[in-house]
Formats: sequence, C-alpha cells, structure tokens
Amino acid sequence: MVGRLMMDCTKIEQMLPAYTLGSLAESETAVFTAHIDGCASCAVKVREAGDTLVNLARMVPQKHPSKRVKDGIFARIDQVGQQETQPPRPW
Ligand SMILES: [Zn+2]
Repeated sequence: MVGRLMMDCTKIEQMLPAYTLGSLAESETAVFTAHIDGCASCAVKVREAGDTLVNLARMVPQKHPSKRVKDGIFARIDQVGQQETQPPRPW
C-alpha cells in the first residue's frame, strides 16, 4: 500500500519530468527516489520516462548547472537589449 509512503503516486508523476531533467531539489529527489524504491508502478514510469536521462542524473554530481545556463541566457538578453536601445547609426 502507498499509505506509509511520504508521497502519493500523483505527486511523483508530477515530479517525474523535473526528476528526469535533474532539476529537482536535493530534498525532493530524496523523497522521490525513496518513493520509487517502494513503489513498483512509479519505478516503471521513471524507466519509461527515459533510462538514459535517469542514469545521467545519477552520474552527475549535485551541482546546479541549470542556474549557470540561466545566468548566461540572462547576460545575453542584457547584451541584446543594450544593442537594441543604441541608436542605429552611431557615426
Ligand atoms: Zn507510486
């Protein structure tokens, strides 16, 4: 039964995409994997979501590359915004 588990399967299903992308918080991942260990049907869903992604997520150390990517994107947006606000013909 799922009664003794901390999370129900619906919640796990909602977290599944984030989990496969490795974007769950560390505490959420712990709860997620704990549920998977005790719930065969959710374990199957995780496998269906992508063996490769899950394996990658397990191999990658607990860093936050997504934040770095985000910072890079914002930096680029800033640059583009500055270029667009400049007069088209500076000479
Ligand atoms: Zn479950």
